[in-house]
Amino acid sequence: MNVLWPVFHDPSYRPAFGERLTFHWKANLRMLRHPKDIVLFSLISFAPLLLLVSFTRLFPDLFRAVSTPTNPVPNMAPLLFTTLVTFVVFLVLQHLAFVVAINLTYVPHVRSVLLDRGVPLCRRCAQLLPPHAPDSACPECGHTESLATMSDSGPHGVDA
Ligand SMILES: [Zn+2]
Repeated sequence: MNVLWPVFHDPSYRPAFGERLTFHWKANLRMLRHPKDIVLFSLISFAPLLLLVSFTRLFPDLFRAVSTPTNPVPNMAPLLFTTLVTFVVFLVLQHLAFVVAINLTYVPHVRSVLLDRGVPLCRRCAQLLPPHAPDSACPECGHTESLATMSDSGPHGVDA
């Protein structure tokens, strides 16, 4: 799983902008019909926010400029520094959480929609498969679409 950026499909598959909009729209609608994915997506993508709130509650002194009688004008530099560092760490965590959430919950819907639209890609790694051999194993990750259906249909599925 790429945690820096979601991989929806093989980069060599270059759909037009309109086609992109269409399959993402359909993937969104498909995901809306799967409440478990929406709950998981929300939980993962809100986790950094919960962490941020907990952190500021646990260490409130880090985010407070203190003035003393001898120095009535508080030194703002440490406060600015901790706020900036906290914000940057939060942004990084938020991005990672968002990508993980998309990879786990949204990407499978995009790939299903693409497969439904006849784009021959591997469901696991999104590699474009040769269109003449849709049932052969993925050359990139070895995933076979028919293997999953064969195990469901029992030993006779091998001959079919
Ligand atoms: Zn694959």
